[in-house]
Amino acid sequence: MAYEFEPKIIGIICNWCTYAGADLAGVSRYQYTTNIRLIRVMCSGRVDPAFILRAFSIGIDGVFIGGCWPGECHYAPEGNYHAFGMTQLYKKLMAEIGLNPERLRLEWVSASEGVRFAAIMNDFYKKLKTVGPIGESEGIDGDELKARIEKVAKLIPYIKLEQSQKLAAASFTKEGEIAKKAEYDKIFTSEEIHRLIYEAPSYYIDPEKCQACGICLRKCPAGAIEGGKNLIHVIDQDKCIKCGTCLQVCPTRFSAVKKLVAEPVPAPIPEEARAIARKAES
Ligand code: SF4
Ligand code: SF4
Repeated sequence: MAYEFEPKIIGIICNWCTYAGADLAGVSRYQYTTNIRLIRVMCSGRVDPAFILRAFSIGIDGVFIGGCWPGECHYAPEGNYHAFGMTQLYKKLMAEIGLNPERLRLEWVSASEGVRFAAIMNDFYKKLKTVGPIGESEGIDGDELKARIEKVAKLIPYIKLEQSQKLAAASFTKEGEIAKKAEYDKIFTSEEIHRLIYEAPSYYIDPEKCQACGICLRKCPAGAIEGGKNLIHVIDQDKCIKCGTCLQVCPTRFSAVKKLVAEPVPAPIPEEARAIARKAES
């Protein structure tokens, strides 16, 4: 018997509106796909891009995010606007790494819209049936898919920092939603998206210049800098979120931190060679 593709779908939905809408669909016995598993969060603004990328990396074919209609979020500042901006951005990032952006879908569903919830679920299911299995239908094998997703996942903190001001752009209404989409399209141009992934900076401490003052270690928000008294400081690239704080705080008389763009980061100096030679002593 021929194998028939059945999409695996995850829905991450807000407690106040979409979850209540899903509940209404259930008690009203509206029929919708059983291929979706729902996860309740308090607000669609709580949906971190890491959740989405994790789902795709383990083979989920589609991720649905449900929130309250614009203007009806239970929190301030509105989490659903944040979810909207994040979704727009990550659809483009998905396209950039070769994933079909239709695998990610955001909808507003109120507590009274049980029928609409069921209709959206069925529509998303049908769409994913035509889109096909993740990776396979894009011509990307499993390991390559994971590697591409991992590359974006590692950049999430940096992307958040880079885009936070843009994501916090002016509020919008139900009526203004279309205009808002156009606004977001202008913000996230394809060049910007490409730069976000492929030209993300790295920060590096020049062992010849570091004088172990410890300022960068104390100020780093990610705990990414290793060091100690009289020891050359080193950045752990896996922990670094590329915020640039170390570059800003390193005293200009040392200027030991370098920002590297589109060039490899030199290997860290071995631990046994980190003892510092003070300028005055030398
Ligand atoms: S850029 Fe510097 S301060 Fe920021 S996380 Fe990386 S090491 Fe820490
Ligand atoms: S602030 Fe500059 S000199 Fe001080 S420990 Fe960090 S890299 Fe070295």
